[in-house]
Amino acid sequence: MENSKENSRRKFLKATALGTVSVTLGLSAASSFLASCSSSKKTAIKPTGTTGFDQQPLAYSYSALEDVIDAKTMEIHYSKHAAAYSKALKEAVAAEGLQNESALENILPKVSKYSAKLRNNAGGHYNHEMFWKSMRAKTSDNKPAGKLLSAIENEFGSFAALKTKVEEAGTKRFGSGWAWVYMDNAKKLLVGSTPNQDNPLMDVSEIKGFPVLGLDVWEHAYYLKYQNKRADYMSNWWSVVNWDYVQKRYEAFL
Ligand code: MN
Repeated sequence: MENSKENSRRKFLKATALGTVSVTLGLSAASSFLASCSSSKKTAIKPTGTTGFDQQPLAYSYSALEDVIDAKTMEIHYSKHAAAYSKALKEAVAAEGLQNESALENILPKVSKYSAKLRNNAGGHYNHEMFWKSMRAKTSDNKPAGKLLSAIENEFGSFAALKTKVEEAGTKRFGSGWAWVYMDNAKKLLVGSTPNQDNPLMDVSEIKGFPVLGLDVWEHAYYLKYQNKRADYMSNWWSVVNWDYVQKRYEAFL
């Protein structure tokens, strides 16, 4: 009896903590994905700026990521490519009667029911909103810490080994796509990649789970500075990863 009460209390505290973190960070994806995994009980998803259909302002200037990502690439990537995904997403949402969906994460797990336009632009918008938040000005010796670092070391052996796996995933992705660090439903950290603008939250994705960190390997993300050298872009990218944000995503899904 005591045990079951204690279990209920723990579950409640965990659910409450997740909800708080989700709302604070705009990470309702975590609760949505959890809800999609549990057949009996659907969690209400609170709309947040991050999970909506509009592009959010960048938290830094276009030149903030120099010399890893040049200002011109950032400007075109954010104000042209990513802006176009948001615009087309809103058109698709209106055309397919999804205006009343409160969050993008409600759509991604059932994206197979909708058009290619919706799939491509819902992914495009979600992936980029996450990507912008996952970066910050370059710092030397930039690396994860805390629980996330422990999990990386447990799963991959070292942070260096994780970086190698992500870069391999990005290299092997033929054409356009993303390399991901994601968590499966058992909270295990994994590395994989998706084509185009797909992501692990989508029911159509070969890899399924909660995306913790995504690296854009479309040529538009690096071509002005790196031309054909995707590998150089990927290895330099680690110095601008915002590990505080990545860690929060990780903990939101723990
Ligand atoms: Mn992109």
